[in-house]
Amino acid sequence: MLSAEIIAIGSELLTPTKTDTNSLWLTEKLNEIGIDVKLKTVVGDDELRLEEAVKDAIKRSDVIITTGGLGPTEDDITRTVTANAVGRELLYHNELENELRERFLGMGREMPEINKRQAFIIEGARILPNPNGSASGMLVEVGEKFLAVLPGPPRELKPMFENHVLPELSKLRGGVVFRKQILKVSGMGESAIDEAIAPIYSSYEKVRTSILFNKSDVEVHLTAQASSAREADILNNEIAQKIVRALGNAVFSTKGEEMEEVVGNLLKKMGKTLSTAESCTGGLIAGRITEVSGSSAYFIEGAVTYSNDAKMRTLNVPAEMLEKHGAVSAEVAEAMARGMRERARTDYAVAVTGIAGPDGGTEEKPVGTVYIGYADEDKVTSRKIIFPGDRYLIRWRTSQAALEILRRNLIKGQNE
Ligand code: AMP
Ligand code: MG
Repeated sequence: MLSAEIIAIGSELLTPTKTDTNSLWLTEKLNEIGIDVKLKTVVGDDELRLEEAVKDAIKRSDVIITTGGLGPTEDDITRTVTANAVGRELLYHNELENELRERFLGMGREMPEINKRQAFIIEGARILPNPNGSASGMLVEVGEKFLAVLPGPPRELKPMFENHVLPELSKLRGGVVFRKQILKVSGMGESAIDEAIAPIYSSYEKVRTSILFNKSDVEVHLTAQASSAREADILNNEIAQKIVRALGNAVFSTKGEEMEEVVGNLLKKMGKTLSTAESCTGGLIAGRITEVSGSSAYFIEGAVTYSNDAKMRTLNVPAEMLEKHGAVSAEVAEAMARGMRERARTDYAVAVTGIAGPDGGTEEKPVGTVYIGYADEDKVTSRKIIFPGDRYLIRWRTSQAALEILRRNLIKGQNE
């Protein structure tokens, strides 16, 4: 297995305001062709440290990718430092300077003299064209090792990597392709899932399976290895179908889709509409539903009824009910769902009320106590769940559970 490492260059990446997203994207692309990323480094615009980082990387990794620091200004040191690190000269390329001049003229400007720096290329390197910017990339073979020196702006880096670096690395890999597929499972624990599907995945040698918990659900990650993307996808799909047969409706997603997309697709297919009434999630459910493009086809209205007064005024929850059972109760969750459905005249409504904490818990209703209401034309139901976690997780898990309850009911409705 080839090992890779990524060096993200730029002092701004060491501040709390700018994140190195390039290496996440690069890691995904490298993994797809079966190259493992063993190390990531973020280096400021510092010559000594950068030279050390590049030299060390070449010693221990087969593929080294740097991003950033190829601009024309004084703090852009990648060109000179990587040349030093591999012990080669920088050679001036007249044709690159001419291209740069033309590029600037095309934008109606004179080329600033400092941009001449971008016409220098490491001796023996392949020049990687940059249609989206002025910094060319470089691909350098150092003995058996591959060093790719790429620009920092993602819109320049991505096409350069996909069009010029990836094909070279794929050749190195001897045409082996890795493809990933993610299944998501709700309402089952990791060990129960593993018990049910281990006999399936362990019979596939060319597919790596991992089972992991993610905030509220369990994900099954399949990574198939084949000689083409198509073959790998077929292999993944075959296992995915067997897993669905083994786990049934608990699998809510077979291609990595989010719960809100799954629910949205069901509603769209059925031609039904939805409204939401939220207390403790403060609009998170409606927010998630409307993140999906095309949600206007089924999502009609959402209300954030945080206070008792709002629950009465907007959803017709009776004052006596709030008084008697409290806002966090099965009765109120059901009244909220019923009230919302009537108000918005939708086929379905979901409602949530609960205690997200960290304050507000009691012995009888501890932090994490949530009631999820559901209403359709035949029935109004509710479910009590006590979620572990901090405020963020309790709110997230509540939204996920509400969507899951809706999904289960939609599937039932579909089959009737
Ligand atoms: P540079 O090539 O160092 O001049 O970087 C230009 C710009 O690209 C920076 O100001 C950042 O906005 C962006 N950039 C550089 N490196 C990264 C990175 N690792 N992840 C995301 N954005 C980056
Ligand atoms: Mg920079």
